[in-house]
Amino acid sequence: MIEAAKGTRDILPGEVARWQLVEQQARDIFTLFGFREIRTPIFESTELFTRGVGEATDIVAKEMYTFLDRKGRSLTLRPENTAPVARALIEHGLLRGAEMHRLYYIGPMFRYERPQKGRMRQFAQIGVEVVGSDHPAVDAETLQMLMLFLGRLRLGALELQVNSVGCSVCRPVYRDILVAALRPHRDALCTDCRRRLETNPLRCLDCKVPADRAIVDGAPPILEHLCADCAAHFARVRGHLDGLGVAHTVAPRLVRGLDYYRRTTFEVVSTSLGAQSALLGGGRYDGLIEELGGPPAPGFGFAMGEDRLVMSLPGDLPGLEQASGVFIVVLGDEAVAAGLLAAARLREAGRAAVVEPAPQKSLKAQMRRANDLKARFVLILGADEIARGTLTVKRMADGAQQEVAAASLVQALTELDHG
Ligand code: AMP
Repeated sequence: MIEAAKGTRDILPGEVARWQLVEQQARDIFTLFGFREIRTPIFESTELFTRGVGEATDIVAKEMYTFLDRKGRSLTLRPENTAPVARALIEHGLLRGAEMHRLYYIGPMFRYERPQKGRMRQFAQIGVEVVGSDHPAVDAETLQMLMLFLGRLRLGALELQVNSVGCSVCRPVYRDILVAALRPHRDALCTDCRRRLETNPLRCLDCKVPADRAIVDGAPPILEHLCADCAAHFARVRGHLDGLGVAHTVAPRLVRGLDYYRRTTFEVVSTSLGAQSALLGGGRYDGLIEELGGPPAPGFGFAMGEDRLVMSLPGDLPGLEQASGVFIVVLGDEAVAAGLLAAARLREAGRAAVVEPAPQKSLKAQMRRANDLKARFVLILGADEIARGTLTVKRMADGAQQEVAAASLVQALTELDHG
């Protein structure tokens, strides 16, 4: 038997309603805030990610699905979608004016990671990018939108944690301060952090190894070393969040894995999930577009793992598992044609209908099938009904049953909908 590749999985029809619900909520709420969808390719030139995400990041160093195509070009399955969106904006000349772009995307990403619960090699992200403004109100309003979305999904207790990682002026200064503080403890750090100390020392700040945490907690926090502009920016982001009533906490050790972040970074953590408690994260990336060869254009965005969102949904979320369709039970082969006609009439009236031509199956077996398909109504067509030109209608919620003339079927169901 050939199985799905390691780290990938099928989303079967029984599960798909939860995914569609999450995506529909995202589309509805993002649209309320003026965001529009963008769809970029699944694979890109490898160089886009080495430049845009950064050689020293875990993603580029060890997690990319990179391959040569038949002409020897190096291509990579997208591990994230901020760099591709930036590339698209540059390539199509959309950054020549001064206007803002509010974009969102929904789709699969690929990272060669060790699969575990909530961590896949192919996973879906829902993300948004606002490009063209570095105003702190952009950060705050985008976070307001995010928390509204998560609230609609009723994911339980969530905490929005914010931080600032400075800019190209103050971050290098802080980087030296951090390295100087950590270097005396180098031998006590984990192997990853020893490497990070040379390549990407800020990443030591969010190391999860307890012994490292104790050391890092003693290092000076970045918020005390921001330049005046970055400190003011962070204060204004927080001010706007307060003004919009968006609850948040400051997490001074919060840095993100990707090199391109400047100033605001944030994560939303679920206080009810275990090890993979970070539901999503993002931040400001004011240097990225220039790094990729575009004009100066600041940006702010986030990406959330849809797999984790779906996993965390409450079972009784409104909109899930609503019985809607009609299942038509045909008893005996002579009932099949009448069943098809009834289904056609229902669909014309906008009602989903299924007739399964298994006339030899017992009524009981067909009713079980209707139950499995979560039908709202069942129509029964047997020899008696055919002879009388009627159908027996059964409302599954309460078992209410009546015989109706074939010609008034649609109207009868409408009445039963409200009855
Ligand atoms: P990142 O692009 O690394 O900032 O990740 C953003 C979000 O995507 C994370 O908070 C997760 O929810 C999700 N995510 C990242 N990697 C994976 C993965 N391998 N499997 C499932 N979800 C992931």
